[in-house]
Amino acid sequence: MIVSDIKELIGKTPIFQFLATDYGGESQSRIYAKLEYLNPGGSIKDRLGSYLISEAVAAGRITKDTTVIEPTAGNTGIGLALAGLAYGLDMLFVIPDTFSQEKQQLIKALGARIIHSPSQEGMQGAIRKAKFLADQLPNSFLSLQFENEQNPAAYYRTLGPEIVQEIPGKIDSFIAGVGSGGTFAGTGAYLKSIDSTIRLIAVEPEGSILNGGPAHEHAIEGIGVEERPLFFKNLMPDSIETISDPEGFYYTRLLAARHGLLVGSSSGAAFAAAIRESKRLPKGSTIVTIFPDSGDRYLSKNIYGQLEEA
Ligand code: PMP
Repeated sequence: MIVSDIKELIGKTPIFQFLATDYGGESQSRIYAKLEYLNPGGSIKDRLGSYLISEAVAAGRITKDTTVIEPTAGNTGIGLALAGLAYGLDMLFVIPDTFSQEKQQLIKALGARIIHSPSQEGMQGAIRKAKFLADQLPNSFLSLQFENEQNPAAYYRTLGPEIVQEIPGKIDSFIAGVGSGGTFAGTGAYLKSIDSTIRLIAVEPEGSILNGGPAHEHAIEGIGVEERPLFFKNLMPDSIETISDPEGFYYTRLLAARHGLLVGSSSGAAFAAAIRESKRLPKGSTIVTIFPDSGDRYLSKNIYGQLEEA
């Protein structure tokens, strides 16, 4: 495959198949994971960055002099920066200060700028700061993945159809981690439009509030919310799985050591939730999940430290 625009490499990611019985699940059940970490920027958010920028350019909301501002855990910043290269756009991202250094370096490598927000204020703090900066700067564009309906739309249009085309037979459950909720809501809505009986399962780390627990910091990065995502108003999860840091990291390390899948901790959490589901559903079920990003962007956080018991 020969390309001359990096955006041509976004999407159409491969799918990894696991036998549920290898993880204590029902016989003949399969867990399929969409390997979104193989996108060129290393995450599922390349899809979003590309979609947001091309939609905003087409709508005339971005010109070559626009500064794109976005609060991000890092991956959306990388996706936006990749997509903005072709247009030579100025990019400014607000990232909580303790988030992965590697992601911040990748953003800078792509020519974008970073401003920090205090990590104890979570993503809400980053959102507040990004809105403040956008108010100050003339000709800025705040893509606001947490509120922008183009976020779920990006997955409704790309990831959902890919999954339906590539997975054989009926899909019983779709499982995705929730940060902005865009992946869950957009892909989930598409899959439900094809088969209304599908179960949609949201994954959060302990310290996220969806299952009612108190908000606190967690080591699993990229998922977890301090407020209910806006996109849940159109699509409620059938179930919410809360995964502890030790369990999420246990499976992240196991995915690398046993299968060669060098993914980030939100993938380990998604896999842990998929294993739970494979023990609940009858034999012969099909479960689909997403591995959103790569693990090498978390090496400074010892993501592949000892393989401890969960
Ligand atoms: N995993 C990782 C590593 C992420 O960076 C994100 C987005 N912050 C997600 C999962 C969740 O994606 P979404 O924002 O679509 O809910």
